Amino acid sequence: MTTTEKHDLLIDGEFIPATSGERFVTLNPATEEPITEVAAADKEDIDRAVESAHEAYPKWRSTAPEERGRLLTALAARIREETDYLAELETRDNGKPISQARSDVEGCARYFEYYAGIADKIHGDSIPLTDKYVDYTVREPLGVTGQIIPWNFPVNLVGRTIAPALAAGNVAVAKPAEQTPLSALKIGEFALEVGIPPGVLNVVPGFGATAGASLAGHPDVNAISFTGSVVTGRQVAKLGADNVTPVHLELGGKSPNVVFPDADLDHALDETITAIFATNAGQVCSAGSRLLVHESIHSEFVDRLATRASELTVGPGLEDPDVGPLVSSDQHRKVREYVEIGREEVGDPIVGGKTPDHDGYFVEPTIFDDVDNSDRIAQEEIFGPVLSVIEFSDEREAFELANDVDYGLVAGIFTSDVGRAHRFAHEMEAGQVYINEWFAGGVETPFGGYKQSGFGREKGLEAIESYTQVKNVCARI
Ligand code: NAD
Repeated sequence: MTTTEKHDLLIDGEFIPATSGERFVTLNPATEEPITEVAAADKEDIDRAVESAHEAYPKWRSTAPEERGRLLTALAARIREETDYLAELETRDNGKPISQARSDVEGCARYFEYYAGIADKIHGDSIPLTDKYVDYTVREPLGVTGQIIPWNFPVNLVGRTIAPALAAGNVAVAKPAEQTPLSALKIGEFALEVGIPPGVLNVVPGFGATAGASLAGHPDVNAISFTGSVVTGRQVAKLGADNVTPVHLELGGKSPNVVFPDADLDHALDETITAIFATNAGQVCSAGSRLLVHESIHSEFVDRLATRASELTVGPGLEDPDVGPLVSSDQHRKVREYVEIGREEVGDPIVGGKTPDHDGYFVEPTIFDDVDNSDRIAQEEIFGPVLSVIEFSDEREAFELANDVDYGLVAGIFTSDVGRAHRFAHEMEAGQVYINEWFAGGVETPFGGYKQSGFGREKGLEAIESYTQVKNVCARI
């Protein structure tokens, strides 16, 4: 495949090289071979992109909402038409199994479709005061919004962060991750093709410390949506604070997957595999990376899990294995370091832990058993196919262990006791709770973190709140 034809920055409807002429290489993580070179934006390019967005804003904001909706629907259709192309591009750039890439492309289209339908339904309230007043609220767009996107779900997160912004009448400057810039550029190209005006969606690949920081700290950016690590999220929040720019942070997780003996254990087993291994090689913010399992089923459940994990296929994403390579050499090194930390903390993993002896950033699905919840492998986000298993003896202990972590993105439970499931939902310090299914929910369901996992909500109607501001109008009559 000819990856993408346009590897330059998309600014004001044109693909142009970076002012500095700098380019970076994006690699195929399954082979470690270069795919292509991409223009690397720096501060000057970000300034140009923000300026072009500002110029496009008045017209886009005053475009009839149903027309904005029509354009976003057309973009969704264009993305769907190119599912095969985009999925292959994503697999080459990110490494993930092709069937998962296809589902991410579908997710991206679905975001544009969903928010297209909301564009003409964004409205305020009327507030009854006394008969001397008429009081109402309107929801207005924020203006120029910046989207800083990580590498784990590149195409999907374009939809998640940009569709609600544009639907609500904002314009966008998106900075994809330097590891995976290609699908975002292609969506930008499709946006132009379907008639979204130049400047409404700018795409500026580049490095975090230059392009990302320039966008987050830009005084003319009116809101930032950041998805990435806690460390970078803190920096982005500080940059935003200097300009009093609202920042919305979607950060990492170390999510508990709690299995009780009264659950459908075959199903819990399948879902546990999906939660940590068979989705993007565990490089998922909402991965079920801590398995809390009741003492009465611990050994049988973990034995079966180890067998299943050892049977998972690991290989290049284009061959559609269960587990693809990790995204980059940095990520590969980091995950292998955690495997060594795990060996020091609890001994050898019961399965996996080895790195296949060939090119590509592969790591075997790895399980550490008898982990203490205070161990680093139970507390820190590894972001790879590595599971820590912790035993509990009763409901109270399980709930306490589940919450005993700095993160609060999601929490999941497997049980047939409805009361227990809802007690769990009530007690969890997490933005989303899964009951008897991992990765439950869809485009319609709000998503975001408690605690160190961030603040603000994406997906669902809540994303429209994140991308609008409320004006109250009070008239004395
Ligand atoms: P990262 O924080 O290193 O990078 C994320 C993005 O920020 C990239 O585009 C990067 O270029 C940019 N960036 C880096 N330094 C920057 C700076 N100083 N200023 C502005 N931008 C900067 O994260 P990552 O390693 O690419 O992604 C993995 C992390 O993302 C994990 O912690 C994962 O849990 C999290 N994540 C969270 C969600 C969610 O919805 N909560 C979704 C996906 C990933």
